[in-house]
Amino acid sequence: MTSGLTMQAATPDDAYEFVAPFRAPQGSPIRELFKYVGRPGMISFAGGYPSKDLFDRDGLAQALEAAYRSDPIACLQYGDTAGAPLLRRSLARLMAVRGVECSGDDILVTTGSQQGFDLLVRTLIAPGDTALIEEPAYPAAIQALRLAGATIVTMRTDSDGIDVDALADQLDTWGDAKRPKLLYTVPTFANPTGATLPRARREALVRLAARHRIVLVEDDPYGELRFAGTPVPPILALADACPGARDWVVYFGSLSKIVAPGLRIGWAVAPAPIARRMIVAKQTSDLCTSPLSQEAARHYLDSGSLELHLRSIVGAYRSRCDALLKALAHFAPEDIEFCAPQGGMFVWARLSAGRDAAEVLKRAIERNVMFVPGTAFFVRNPDVSSLRLSFAAPSEAEAFEGARRLASALA
Ligand code: PMP
Repeated sequence: MTSGLTMQAATPDDAYEFVAPFRAPQGSPIRELFKYVGRPGMISFAGGYPSKDLFDRDGLAQALEAAYRSDPIACLQYGDTAGAPLLRRSLARLMAVRGVECSGDDILVTTGSQQGFDLLVRTLIAPGDTALIEEPAYPAAIQALRLAGATIVTMRTDSDGIDVDALADQLDTWGDAKRPKLLYTVPTFANPTGATLPRARREALVRLAARHRIVLVEDDPYGELRFAGTPVPPILALADACPGARDWVVYFGSLSKIVAPGLRIGWAVAPAPIARRMIVAKQTSDLCTSPLSQEAARHYLDSGSLELHLRSIVGAYRSRCDALLKALAHFAPEDIEFCAPQGGMFVWARLSAGRDAAEVLKRAIERNVMFVPGTAFFVRNPDVSSLRLSFAAPSEAEAFEGARRLASALA
């Protein structure tokens, strides 16, 4: 397990009688790779990290200062578990820009959207409950469901995301006895595939969730990072057209990819009975999200800095993605195939002739380039030839050089 701890314990692990999911825990395979990231000269396509060169350091410094100056006590004291009322209002305005009508009272601020999902899983999933997840999927969502003891059932996907027709058939044959409680998806610029679920599939999916009474989790940290194609509304925005459907959608947003993950600001828009229980779960998790961070985030949003910043990072990600795809096509045209994403941070690729991406990674690391083998994103039966490349962190020149090194590892 990746713990970051090096202390040696004399007592064997099993002396502690851990609960079942923690007896032989697997840490995040992606975090395991991070020991190589700091190596001099390493070009990493591995992390889903925003580019360090693109942080709005000045804007955030001003927001932090303004937050502290205008109300130091609010920054230093514990705050409401549901979040600072003014930030909740600012986030409701951000949701309006995304096409979702809600008020500050409908927003629950979380310590990153990862916490939001964890809280939701705690309120809904008992060991043995069925949860549906797209495959390949975001590993920390798989992990949260595993730790809760869920029976994880994967949904088939294609280059447009979940195959909703296949899912509808599956749910009909199951009937009520095996009804899943929760369905998890990243419908816009998915992690890891970069795929975006088209509008018609979103509408069908939300109708399906409402009909089968399944909580549909829309995880949306990347939606605003669109650099090509036509915007598609969030599933939550489309739910209003289907009577009763809004009661079955939980939306997670995050400032991590569009501002900075160090703020640890995420939020949930959930039906009131679910939100109330998530708040109770959050009380035992962290009491409240850092009030200093919340105040800074509010100043950042209210000053209009986010729109300006988005324009600059979206342009940069477009150029970086283009540079990577062109370089891959140039250096390794026969060895690797991929789908061009319309936004986000990820390219999902496949090595030809069924080659094992984990084996190629070893040679890639020797050449100072990294990616994540696709195995990390599967619940079972991984596609060993798949891999995820993030274009967010390397500059255009680094993307070019990284693709050249990758081609050499493949040669
Ligand atoms: N969902 C997805 C799909 C992600 O890729 C990530 C971050 N890698 C998260 C949630 C967690 O984000 P946060 O920093 O808001 O907890």
